[in-house]
Amino acid sequence: MSNDKNFASLYQNLMTKKTLSNIFLENQTVFLSCDFNVPLTFLNGEYVVNDDTRIKASFETIDYLLEKNAKIVIFSHLGRIKSESDKKKNSLWAVYKYFEKNTNYNISFFPLHKGKEFENQIKNLKSKEILLLENTRYLDLENEQESKNNPELAKYWASLCDVFVGNSFGLSHRKHCSNYGIPTFQKNNCLGFLMEKELFALEKITSNPKKPYYVLMGGAKVSDKIKIINNLIEKVDKLLIGGKMAYTFIYSLGFEVGKSGHEEDQVEYCKNLLKTHLDKIILPIDFKVIDDFRDDKPKIVSYKEIPSDHMGLDIGPLTIKLFENNLSDAQTIAINGPVGVFEFENFSLGTKEVFSYVSEMKNCFTFVGGGDSAFACNKFNLQDKMSFISTGGGASLQYLEGKTLPGVDIICEK
Ligand code: ADP
Ligand code: MG
Repeated sequence: MSNDKNFASLYQNLMTKKTLSNIFLENQTVFLSCDFNVPLTFLNGEYVVNDDTRIKASFETIDYLLEKNAKIVIFSHLGRIKSESDKKKNSLWAVYKYFEKNTNYNISFFPLHKGKEFENQIKNLKSKEILLLENTRYLDLENEQESKNNPELAKYWASLCDVFVGNSFGLSHRKHCSNYGIPTFQKNNCLGFLMEKELFALEKITSNPKKPYYVLMGGAKVSDKIKIINNLIEKVDKLLIGGKMAYTFIYSLGFEVGKSGHEEDQVEYCKNLLKTHLDKIILPIDFKVIDDFRDDKPKIVSYKEIPSDHMGLDIGPLTIKLFENNLSDAQTIAINGPVGVFEFENFSLGTKEVFSYVSEMKNCFTFVGGGDSAFACNKFNLQDKMSFISTGGGASLQYLEGKTLPGVDIICEK
């Protein structure tokens, strides 16, 4: 089923059946999968939430569950847990403190995910109470039970709830235990409101987007993102490429990129893409470069003349114009990734200008995916001018590429 071009309308039909409003919730124990994978900063001796977009995006579903007198247990991951030392900086305790400070929810925190004490905590929950569990990826230290979707754990969790609600859109391209394992066994399940909203926005783009439809890609996750271009390119009218990925393409054209870095094993792939889709792919023609990764005065150079001891950290002024000209007649635009290191004052202009231009476009559906792209929108105060800002970068990109999302499939399956 995945890769089927008509998958989008399939979701549309099933989504309406798999909605919260069709589920009996009174006094039920609801396991709610959320994506609270939020950036934290260390401030005055503790970790605090730096960006609450993903947390706020869950309020609608939580409020509804509370209104229906459910008992809520929240599952979420945060960051990656590869060793004991990763635990402290990726604890959901910071998110618990956020809830305590910013909401009136009757919420408590529990550090364990199994065992008698854990089961008792769940049994003793009263209606309208919320239990936030510690980062599910702590269990990755035990044979990656969360990330590899351990079936025993999935069955165990499924047996402890009356209802499963999948609301972790940002995780939905993954088959993890907390978002995919539980609904495999707990069939009394449905999508949360955030998940529905995200899917409806993506539907607008994937099933019959208003044309012309352009995608702007950037950011730093080159190897993840570059792979999807092959499929994505078939669906778009133009693909504009900024960010770190651009340098592998420039290199593939036969030019040096200096210290910018390119992915050697993707060069052939990029050459092929350029050969087959030269008319659709728009690359930068100038860059802002500097001798090291720091926020200082850059040089502006043509794409043919990146000095060997310099790296490109933003697109140049000619490229800003080039990108704006190419986007000007769009009716649908999806952005995934900033075009430069917008966190640095000296390299923020490309992202600021191009994103602002997109945000001002009339009669155009403007979709933004990716945590850092969303952050850039906030930074430049564009968040209310975009049609939709997604809480999931990888997940939305996978949907745009034309693949379904396992975390949704398992709930919406026939
Ligand atoms: P998103 O979260 O929007 O999907 P990514 O996670 O892929 O985006 O990448 C975001 C990061 O990419 C930003 O922190 C930005 O500084 C960085 N970035 C953008 N352009 C470059 C570049 N040319 N070189 C290095 N980093 C870049
Ligand atoms: Mg990111």
